[in-house]
Amino acid sequence: MKNFFTTNISGADPVISNAIDDEVRRQTNGLELIASENFVSEAVLQTMGTVFTNKYAEGYPGKRYYGGCEFADVVEQAAIDRAKEIFGAEHANVQPHSGAQANMAVLMTALEHGDQILGMNLSHGGHLTHGHPLNFSGINYKVADYGVNKDTEQIDYDELQRLAEEHKPKLLICGASAYPRTIDFERIGQIAQSVGAKVMADIAHIAGLVATGLHPSPVPHCEFVTTTTHKTLRGPRGGLILCREEFAKDVDRSVFPGVQGGPLVHIIAAKAVSFGEALQADFKSYQQQIVNNAKALAQTLSDAGLRLVSGGTDNHLLLVDVYMDGKGITGKVAEKALDEVHITVNKNTIPFDTQKPFVASGIRLGTPALTTRGMKEEDMHSIGEMIAAIIREPESEQVKDLVKRSVAELTAKFPMYPERLKERSGGASRAN
Ligand SMILES: *Cc1c(COP(=O)(O)O)cnc(C)c1O
Repeated sequence: MKNFFTTNISGADPVISNAIDDEVRRQTNGLELIASENFVSEAVLQTMGTVFTNKYAEGYPGKRYYGGCEFADVVEQAAIDRAKEIFGAEHANVQPHSGAQANMAVLMTALEHGDQILGMNLSHGGHLTHGHPLNFSGINYKVADYGVNKDTEQIDYDELQRLAEEHKPKLLICGASAYPRTIDFERIGQIAQSVGAKVMADIAHIAGLVATGLHPSPVPHCEFVTTTTHKTLRGPRGGLILCREEFAKDVDRSVFPGVQGGPLVHIIAAKAVSFGEALQADFKSYQQQIVNNAKALAQTLSDAGLRLVSGGTDNHLLLVDVYMDGKGITGKVAEKALDEVHITVNKNTIPFDTQKPFVASGIRLGTPALTTRGMKEEDMHSIGEMIAAIIREPESEQVKDLVKRSVAELTAKFPMYPERLKERSGGASRAN
């Protein structure tokens, strides 16, 4: 009989094992430009696959509902201390399973059912959890929304002030999933204060930039700050809440028992490891390179005649208007054509889009993942030219072959996860 504790994945389950190997190869052989994705370190990967997955630890360090939590306490306390240090926050809750769960817990803390919120419109860069009608936030609360100015395609703070006065929200929600510009958290804090609202700043996308001072921090200006840990912050998939001490108990109670049961201790351990990495000096140069790379990519695309929403970028992402009022192609067509040459992006609506969300006029590009691989400005320049070539001629097999070869050459220069790059066990290897 096989030993339960020593059977490994490749022997035990070829279906999943092969899919894992294929995924390592897909990530290695393609150009990952999805702005919300990144590649974690081997240390973070290893930590996620540890025996902490076996442990129930409902409660918080020192106050658990289960025995045997002394080592779970060590990892959770380390994650909390490091998160507070990174962001200069008074309180941190590291248990949210995701960014959406973090937001749900804050809304539960700050609001009663049916209260008014004011959040950024999804089609202008906001997130589902900021008041979309199909999301808990839009179902349980009264929603008003703000967007960007039609000419500048940037947040119009005077208009936001006016909307805040009109709707008198109890909670103002800021932060975005597809906004390439700096967000003025100080101004938003002032607007909220002027109408007696609290603020939740959701920095899911820009957390790494905030952590290193490359984007102004919302922490001094907002009661609640939420983030994911897996985007620019480059940790395991998960969520994090920061807040002022006065809300600490309520936030903790909203996470557990409010919206979650047992915490994912193996993921919290991996969060602690990634927070430790974020506290190293080289994390700042990594974040600076992300921004430099985004600017280089923006410049190349704009030189190639593509229109950038808001004219450029201040952060890690850019929104490219590939439709250009019918002169170009839709985001849907662009995403598919780029996917065929192993450049991974997502279609995205642009502000005041005339296309439906599933078609969209734009694509969103981000540089965190490729920067993790070690790519620099000159690589962004090459990639920008590949993208422009595909968008110009999305149906040309000749262009596709050419770009596919360039992608293979470039990715070969930036290897990743060498220990995990195995040949497929049995069966044919997927062509790349
Ligand atoms: C990604 C994102 C989230 C949600 O994160 P999940 O972990 O996918 O739930 C929340 N808010 C913003 C602004 C995001 O970009």
